Amino acid sequence: MKTALPGSSVGVLGSGQLGRMFAISARRMGYRVHTFSPHAAGTPAGQISDREYQHAYEDLDAVREFARGVEVVTFEFENVPAASVEAASEFAPVHPSGTVLHTTQHRLREKTFLAAHGFPHAPFRRVASVADLRDALDAVGYPAVLKTAGFGYDGKGQLKISDAATFEQATAALGGHEWVLEAFVDFERELSVVAARGREGEFAHYGVIENTHRRHILDLSVAPAPNISTEREREAIELARRVLETLDVVGVMCVEFFLTRAGKLLINELAPRPHNSGHFTFDASVTSQFEQQLRAVCGLPLGATALLRPAAAMANLLGDLWHAGEPDWLAALNFPGVKLHLYGKSQARAGRKMGHLTALAGNAEDAARLVLAARAALMPNSSDARV
Ligand code: AMP
Repeated sequence: MKTALPGSSVGVLGSGQLGRMFAISARRMGYRVHTFSPHAAGTPAGQISDREYQHAYEDLDAVREFARGVEVVTFEFENVPAASVEAASEFAPVHPSGTVLHTTQHRLREKTFLAAHGFPHAPFRRVASVADLRDALDAVGYPAVLKTAGFGYDGKGQLKISDAATFEQATAALGGHEWVLEAFVDFERELSVVAARGREGEFAHYGVIENTHRRHILDLSVAPAPNISTEREREAIELARRVLETLDVVGVMCVEFFLTRAGKLLINELAPRPHNSGHFTFDASVTSQFEQQLRAVCGLPLGATALLRPAAAMANLLGDLWHAGEPDWLAALNFPGVKLHLYGKSQARAGRKMGHLTALAGNAEDAARLVLAARAALMPNSSDARV
């Protein structure tokens, strides 16, 4: 495939904030961006795009027409049906490939891939019936987490089983679907590595990022992850490199880890696209994860990933912030070093990712403190900096 140079058109399947930040990066470099999703025009990505297709992913003729109009197709949302990716690839190369998507859009396939290639992960079992659930609990032990095998993100479709009552709840939830039961990991910290791989196998990464979740949704990311031994850092990056190589990824992928109290790294999840934990790179790195995705899928050289300051932190802005009305933007913007990103979503709902703040500083602790202080200022009556 030839290099898709600036001036050409790139297609994005999906139309959320990841597509929006991709489109901002791509348009800055002179590309034209076409987005495709079932959502009504004016999506976060569509607002920044040259062309917005509104069709069901299952509408394969529409997918073909979309692909015909671009040089290369990528995605910002991994739950696109395999058949749609196949239809798109009749007319334009799709990166990462349909195979990467197929593996990573389904927890059971993803974990089976990790197990088959010797990547460290929490013990898991497939569950499709109450009998399976009993056997799986015998195998992985209590407590355990039951997760839907497909189409899950941000803790949606998850249930922690720790006693008879939660076991009953889980059996009631099964409903003939396919699930994965996974050992509950008593982790010390959560980490991620956002990495990119080019068409010739070139590799770039953004170091190890520390992530804090609230109610299963990412709340705060800090880079570089403070107080990580050089050995763990190297190991996490090496594991990420091996995952991208084994899957033959062309594009950006995030590898999420648990660091157990015993100091062991376990891979929790793979995301075959830019990731929320890498949003700080938009302001803090020479090349953002979004520009890196563009470079990788277009066949351009990968860009430098160095931080512009020693450390950065990113705090998510969820719809909950709006519950008492519009957040106090001016109060947050009074922090001159803090950058505000809003995704152009018209409706704020609890748990919905509406935007984020980024802060750069001389060290990770200061960056985290700054970004949390700016977020707290958005809600003047809240005593909780983590709202
Ligand atoms: P996931 O959607 O699987 O990435 O889960 C979202 C978040 O739920 C993770 O980032 C963890 O904070 C928590 N979580 C998921 N699986 C486990 C597990 N097996 N043990 C402990 N916490 C978990």
